[in-house]
Amino acid sequence: MESQIQMISDQIRNEDDFLVVSHYNPDGDAIGSTCAMGHILQYLGKKFTLYNISGVPHRYDFVGKPAPITSTLPATLPKWTIVLDCGALDRIGEDLLARLDETTIIDIDHHLGNGDYGRFNWVDVRQPAVGSMMAVLATHLGVPIIDGLAECIYLAIATDTGFFTYGSTTPESLELAAQMLRHGLDMPRMNKMITKQWTEARMRLWTEVMASVELYADKQIAIGVITQEMFERTGTTSEDTESIINFISRLKTVRVSVILREEAHESYKFSLRSYGNDNVQQMAVRFGGGGHKNASGGTLEASLKNAIEMLVDVISGSLDRP
Ligand code: 5GP
Ligand code: MN
Repeated sequence: MESQIQMISDQIRNEDDFLVVSHYNPDGDAIGSTCAMGHILQYLGKKFTLYNISGVPHRYDFVGKPAPITSTLPATLPKWTIVLDCGALDRIGEDLLARLDETTIIDIDHHLGNGDYGRFNWVDVRQPAVGSMMAVLATHLGVPIIDGLAECIYLAIATDTGFFTYGSTTPESLELAAQMLRHGLDMPRMNKMITKQWTEARMRLWTEVMASVELYADKQIAIGVITQEMFERTGTTSEDTESIINFISRLKTVRVSVILREEAHESYKFSLRSYGNDNVQQMAVRFGGGGHKNASGGTLEASLKNAIEMLVDVISGSLDRP
């Protein structure tokens, strides 16, 4: 691990222009680590372009960005592209995927089964977020973790750990949070900005999704459904669905919770969450998806009825142990 960090640090020191990218439909870790990488490069006096094929969800507008995140690739790509928080390379989006012969990848990630798709790969599945890896990198490169950089790192870790509540939370991430707090990070403001983002439309959508939840396998599996029709009627988008699944997971009897989100006719994005030893990454892989042990996802091309049947079958088959 040390040697990977060393090689990537050397590469960053020696080169002077970078594209920084994370996955489409970015979450807090994707946006936070992209901006954190930008802050590090800015401090080091490097040129850089921050890019995300989906742009930045409005709810993350508040975080201190070193430069805007563009959703359009530059005409000429930098020699080096730093890919963050992408468990599979196709998550960078089709635009950049089509131009990989123009650039060389540095892969920094914390997903199981990453596959080391870069020229340099630093993949650490024990890290709670790529944001915490940005803190390790900053320390290596002598960049102080304060101000905008601390905000971005905090956004990344707080969202990927559910505010330091998930099993992925590490002593190091708590120590890092303490260090950032000591150095002036306004944590209450950050927590408010991250959570106090609801519109009335979102609340209406959430009540409908909660009402859609059905329980399977002795109430050990909960499945909620979001259709395009619900989005249209409530005036919401997929941005409004992040973390609904965590509330469904709170059902006492439930070991695996599922959200199925209709993306197109007979095409559903699925999200899975679990606790402890129930490994939803292995379940997602069965459907060509991936992620982490307790949080994973993928896409199912099937009717809603078939999608639910297939998921219940695979999940209940993996839950035979108490
Ligand atoms: P979410 O349910 O929040 O969309 O995703 C949970 C986790 O599963 C994330 O860490 C994400 O990287 C991973 N994940 C979600 N969808 C896919 C997918 O289609 N393919 C892969 N490989 N991972 C996914
Ligand atoms: Mn992440």
